[in-house]
Amino acid sequence: MNKAADIDRENLEKYGRSRNIHVVNEIVDNGLCVRCGACEPSCPVDIIRFDEHAYPYITDEAQCLFGCVRCIKICPGEHVDFEALDQKMFGVSPSVNSVSGIIRRHLVTHSTESTLRREATSGGFVTQFLMFLMDRGHIDGALVLGSESGSDGWVEKPFIARSTAELRTAIKSKYRLVPYLRVLDEIEKTPGRYAVVGLPCHLHAIHKYVKATKKLEDRITVLIGLYCNVAFDPKVLDEVCEVNGLTRGDIKHLDFRAGHWPGTILATLQDGVSAKALKVDEMRDEFNLLKLFYAPNRCNMCIDFGAEYADIAVGDPWLRDRPDGEFKFPEGWTSIVTRTEQGDRLVREAEEAGVIGVFESSIRTYMVNWERAARYKREFVPNNIWLHKLLGYRVPKYFRDLPKTSTKSKIIAIAKFINYRLSFFKPYRMLGLKVFQSNAAVQFFRRNRGKKAARFLQDLPRMERFYEANKPPAPKLEDELRNVRVRFREE
Ligand SMILES: Cc1cc2nc3c(=O)[nH]c(=O)nc-3n(C[C@H](O)[C@H](O)[C@H](O)COP(=O)(O)OP(=O)(O)OC[C@H]3O[C@@H](n4cnc5c(N)ncnc54)[C@H](O)[C@@H]3O)c2cc1C
Ligand code: SF4
Ligand code: SF4
Ligand code: SF4
Repeated sequence: MNKAADIDRENLEKYGRSRNIHVVNEIVDNGLCVRCGACEPSCPVDIIRFDEHAYPYITDEAQCLFGCVRCIKICPGEHVDFEALDQKMFGVSPSVNSVSGIIRRHLVTHSTESTLRREATSGGFVTQFLMFLMDRGHIDGALVLGSESGSDGWVEKPFIARSTAELRTAIKSKYRLVPYLRVLDEIEKTPGRYAVVGLPCHLHAIHKYVKATKKLEDRITVLIGLYCNVAFDPKVLDEVCEVNGLTRGDIKHLDFRAGHWPGTILATLQDGVSAKALKVDEMRDEFNLLKLFYAPNRCNMCIDFGAEYADIAVGDPWLRDRPDGEFKFPEGWTSIVTRTEQGDRLVREAEEAGVIGVFESSIRTYMVNWERAARYKREFVPNNIWLHKLLGYRVPKYFRDLPKTSTKSKIIAIAKFINYRLSFFKPYRMLGLKVFQSNAAVQFFRRNRGKKAARFLQDLPRMERFYEANKPPAPKLEDELRNVRVRFREE
């Protein structure tokens, strides 16, 4: 294995090989693994693989190099030094209560190509922007998540797209956890410039990986982060099929966001027939339901909703900024925040080239809506971390104070924790899926959704105050940041 040649030979000579090292298994056993996949390419002796739940395991402990711990150094599961990343990328830190990250501009955008816009998750910004970067020669490839269908049915497939046609095949969000970064070694092996699209935890891993293997630093030229509340445990697909009398092998294609925005989960079966995968109204209800039973505990301890360490962060425009409190961009738009100067520059270039349409929004609009969109991360996650610490579990360390929360939200966190524990049992999950697909539950979701605009308007004065108290500070310019030396504390 030639990867072993360039790694810690000194360690090998000094310590020899040892069987008694736990490395990634320890991250998994302590419930800290985000299932990002980065440890596989980091391993110099290629002994890390992933099981069907997307967890890493070591294939041959005897091969593990004692003293190497490279997989742990790049792992975002237990340590991500937010403060050091804030200083390195922006020279300032955001308010801990905002959990918004540092923002340069907030825009609502879409692809100007109508077909792409229709096929995309939100407004097709991500795919269009990547195609633009490739056409302009800014990148040679991009890490994206496609999918394929085999005898086991539909599965997600991370790959490096090297043409605009390949980029198109990866359009749309896939909401199950996948060891996405396992293909990073292709970027390491093949010179060129690359974009990476990823969830916030993917970007945490990339920043750590880049630090450990300097090679990738020049290769990854732009990071596009997806806002993320949660990604589901992979077993969700088998169980949703099972509760509806199907097997995964019956599914030829799965679209998590089919039809009008925000869309609904649609399965296309091997015989070409399409069917709603869950018998609930629309994507928001489906996601709330699936979150109850398939949200991994590590997601429930993740504080990064807005891909704080991306050049450009993107998500759905859940923006209620109209006098009636309804959504302002109900169809075919992507909300984006530019975070770094480089990201902002490239977005301006795409805008000037006419490949994206742009509505110039404001940080105020973003933050006022953010207060609600990120509530899961602002209120539930800190309490879940508090509860786990209290019970003696290991928890992720972000080197940042966590938002302050109320007693009421602590009680809610305890109830959610009990539900999480009950969700270990399959009969509980299956019963839940059945109950929530019943007519009564569908009616409940529908009524509740109808009240949200009114609640938003009632809450507006409080959210305005939230914005005033937590406005993100202006980031420093690239020139000022260039010489910043940052010490990451997990070392
Ligand atoms: C698991 C997950 C959770 C999300 N949660 C939220 C949320 O809570 N709130 C919100 O506003 N937005 C969320 N998003 C983002 C949202 O779904 C859209 O991805 C975003 O609005 C971009 O839309 P688009 O039309 O511009 O992208 P498209 O043009 O459709 O392109 C999507 C891109 O994302 C890549 N991609 C898809 N799935 C993944 C994945 N799992 N990991 C890495 N890359 C992937 C694809 O390869 C493609 O390049 C989430 C996305 C994911 C994948
Ligand atoms: S690198 Fe990613 S997949 Fe590997 S143990 Fe850490 S969190 Fe899990
Ligand atoms: S410690 Fe090194 S050799 Fe062992 S699994 Fe991790 S990366 Fe591989
Ligand atoms: S919630 Fe956090 S840990 Fe979970 S998938 Fe999203 S970014 Fe990763």
